[in-house]
Amino acid sequence: MRPSRLDPLFAPLTSLKGVGPKFEGLYARVLGTEGPPRVIDLLLHLPHTIIDRRARPTLAEAVPGAIVTVEVLIEKHRPSPPGKARTPYRVLASDETGDITLVWFNAHRGRIEQMCPLGETRVVSGRIELFDGMRQMVHPDRVLTAEQAASMPMMEPVYPLTEGLASGHVRRAAEAALDRLPALAEWLDARLKDRHSWPAFAAALRTVHQPDRPEAFAPEGPAWTRLAYDELLANQLALGLVRANLKRPAGNRNVGDGSIRARVQAALPFALTGSQQRAIGEIASDMAAPTRMLRLLQGDVGSGKTVVALMAMAAAAEAGRQSALMAPTELLARQHARTLTPLAEAAGLKVAILTGREKGREREAVLAGLADGSIPIVVGTHALFQDGVAFKALGLAVIDEQHRFGVQQRLALAAKGDAVDLLVMTATPIPRTLVLTYFGDMESSQLTEKPAGRKPVDTRVIGMEKLGDVVEGIGRALSAGRQVYWVCPLVAEAEEPTEDTPDLASAEERFEMLRQRFGATVDLVHGQMKGADKDAAMARFQAGETRCLVATTVIEVGVDVPKASIMVIDHAEHFGLAQLHQLRGRIGRGSDASTCILLYRGPLGETAGRRLEIMRETEDGFRIAEEDLKLRGEGDLLGTKQSGMPGFRIARLEHHAPLLETARNDARMIVETDPHLAGPRGEALRDLLYLFGRNEAIRLVEAG
Ligand code: ADP
Ligand code: MG
Repeated sequence: MRPSRLDPLFAPLTSLKGVGPKFEGLYARVLGTEGPPRVIDLLLHLPHTIIDRRARPTLAEAVPGAIVTVEVLIEKHRPSPPGKARTPYRVLASDETGDITLVWFNAHRGRIEQMCPLGETRVVSGRIELFDGMRQMVHPDRVLTAEQAASMPMMEPVYPLTEGLASGHVRRAAEAALDRLPALAEWLDARLKDRHSWPAFAAALRTVHQPDRPEAFAPEGPAWTRLAYDELLANQLALGLVRANLKRPAGNRNVGDGSIRARVQAALPFALTGSQQRAIGEIASDMAAPTRMLRLLQGDVGSGKTVVALMAMAAAAEAGRQSALMAPTELLARQHARTLTPLAEAAGLKVAILTGREKGREREAVLAGLADGSIPIVVGTHALFQDGVAFKALGLAVIDEQHRFGVQQRLALAAKGDAVDLLVMTATPIPRTLVLTYFGDMESSQLTEKPAGRKPVDTRVIGMEKLGDVVEGIGRALSAGRQVYWVCPLVAEAEEPTEDTPDLASAEERFEMLRQRFGATVDLVHGQMKGADKDAAMARFQAGETRCLVATTVIEVGVDVPKASIMVIDHAEHFGLAQLHQLRGRIGRGSDASTCILLYRGPLGETAGRRLEIMRETEDGFRIAEEDLKLRGEGDLLGTKQSGMPGFRIARLEHHAPLLETARNDARMIVETDPHLAGPRGEALRDLLYLFGRNEAIRLVEAG
C-alpha cells in the first residue's frame, strides 16, 4: 500500500486549481501518461528552458539579441493598412534614452489598442533586435502595467507543450503542484548527498521549476542532478529487487528431457548457427536452475532469435509448462505465430494467438485452452497479460522487442505464474551503458553470427533529383520478379507542414505514383489502417501477390519476407540511425543479393549526412548503436528529440551517465543490507520507488 503521505502527489492533476477536466487529455499527451495524469507527473515534467527577464536596461543600454524588460511610453499606433495583412502592426514607444518599435504580425487591432493605450507607460519584456538600424521587439512576450509587472516572475520556466496547451497554463499548474509537496524523509545516503551538495528532493524540484538564476536550472547543477540520481537509483533499485526476489519456489524448475527440442530441431529447414546453439544452451541451464531465468537475448535483425525462443518454449513444454510470447504490435504477433506454428506443430506443439482483436467464441476458446493447459504456446500482444487471462502452468514468458516495454511489464508478467522464466529479445543492439540501465537485472546472450548464406546489403545514398532513375530501376527489378519495400516517413501529406515535416513524401502519395506506373502489383500498408487490412496487405506481399509494398515504419520491427531484396527509404535524412538500421534489416534475409537505396533531399545537415554515411559503411548493428549514441550527443534536430533516455523523465545520458555506476552500487548495497526495505532508509526508499513509478518492485519485497 502506498503511504498516505504521498497521496497529495498521486491525486489527479485535475484536482489542481485551474486544471479542468477538459485539460486532462492534453496533459496526458504532454506528460506521456497512459492513464489520467497525476500531480507527480507534472512535477517530474521539467521545463526545457528558463527565460531570464531580470535585465532592466534603458533602451540605450539594451543589447540587441538579448531578452530585456523595459519600461516605455506608448506614443503612436501604426495598424496594418487595410487589405495588407502581411504588413505588421507597429507600435512606437520610447523612454528617455531612445525609441523602440513593437511589432505584431496578424494582430488583432482591438487587442493591441487595449494592451498599449496611447500616452501610458507599459513594461514590455521580450527579445530586442535591430532592424534597419532601429530597435524593435517582435511579438513581445509580456506587455504589462507597472503593477502587473511587479509580480512577473523574473525567471520564467518554459515547458514542453502540446497544441492547445498554453505555456502560462502549465506554469501555473506546476506552481500549484509544488505547493502540494509534502515533507519526505531523505532516502539518499547522507555522505553521497553532502559530497555533491545536493538539496533535498522537494527543494530540488522547487529549484528546477522556479530557479532564482539560470545556472540553478542547469542539468549538471546540483538540483537537477539530484533528481536524476533519484531516478537512476529508483530504476537500479527496482532492477536489483527483481533480481534478488524472483526466487523460484522449490520444485518448480523447468527441466526437460530434450525430446521435444530434438523434434523441433529435426523439423528445422536449416542448421543452427554456433551462437544460436550457445544461446539455447544458456537458456536451458537457466531454466533448470533454482532461481528464475531473467535473460536478455540480443541479436541484430535477422540473426534468428525466433528459433532460439522456440527451443526455449520446447524445453518448457518438456517440463509440462506453457509458454507465452508477447510482441509489441499485433502485426508482429501474427507474424511470430505464422513462423512458429509450422515448426512447433512439426514437434506436436499447438500454437494459439491472443491479441485485442480476438473476440467472442474464438477468444473464449483460447482462454479456456490456456486455463486447462491444452494450449502449450500462445503468441500475442500485451493483451496476454491482462486480468482475465489465466494459465494452468505458465513456465516461460518471452518478450520480443523489449525496448518498448519496461521493468514494470517484466514484473507484471512474472506475477502471472509461480515459476515463470523470462526471456527478453531485442533486435536493437544496445550500447553497454544502456544495457546496464535497462537490463541490469538480467543475464545476456548474444547472437553474433548471421545465419549462413546471407549476402551483405549493397547500400547506396542517392539524391532526390535522381528519383526518376530510381523508379526506372525499381521497374526493371519488378519485371525481373523481385520484391521491393518503399518506406516513407508519413502516412498522408501533412495538412500543415511544420518545421519537422516540410513537404515530406507521404506513403499515400508515393503509392499513387507507383501504382500509376506499375499497376496492381503495388500495395500500401501503414499504421493508420485497420488491423485486418494491414494483415491482408502484409499477407499479399508475403505470398508474392503484390511485389512493391509502400509502407511507413510499421514494417520497422520484425516483419519477415525473405524474398524482398530491395528497399527504398524515401527522405532517409529524416530517420534516425537506429531506425534506418532496423528498416534495412528487413532485407538481406534471403539468398538474393539485396540493395538498399537511401533517397535523400539535400542539402544534408552534417549529422544527417554522417548518419547516411555510416549506413553505407557498415551493417554491424553494435557499431551503428555506438555511432548513434555519439551523434545524438551533438544535438541536431533528431538528436535533441531523442537524447532523453526512453523510460526516464529526468536523467540525461549526456549529463548523468557517470552517476549510473554509483546508483548501481548504491542499489546493490541496499538490496544486500535491507532486501525487504524494512529499515528507516528502506521506508524512505519505498517513497522513492512510488514517486518514480517503480513500485511494482515493492510487491515483490512484501511477498518475499
Ligand atoms: P530475428 O532475430 O530478426 O527475429 P528471425 O528469427 O526472424 O530473426 O530469423 C530471420 C530468418 O532467418 C527467418 O526466416 C529464419 O527462419 C531464418 N533463420 C533463423 N536461423 C537460421 C539459421 N541458423 N540458418 C538459416 N536461416 C535461419
Ligand atoms: Mg524477430
